[in-house]
Amino acid sequence: MTEILIRCPITGKDLSTGLDLIPEAFEKADLRNRSVGCPHCGQIHSWSREDAYFRTPPERESGSMS
Ligand SMILES: [Zn+2]
Repeated sequence: MTEILIRCPITGKDLSTGLDLIPEAFEKADLRNRSVGCPHCGQIHSWSREDAYFRTPPERESGSMS
């Protein structure tokens, strides 16, 4: 599963919504008028599907394994 993030409008930082969904479930989920407490600025941010995105997985290290 992949963590769902929104962007804090105050600090511009990624903010976890606390949801972990696969993309298919994300498409089907009712994601409207959600709210989440923000650890960056301390406020409550409301969000909807349009605001949300998946955490980009870290890039795999390329190159040969020694
Ligand atoms: Zn915030």
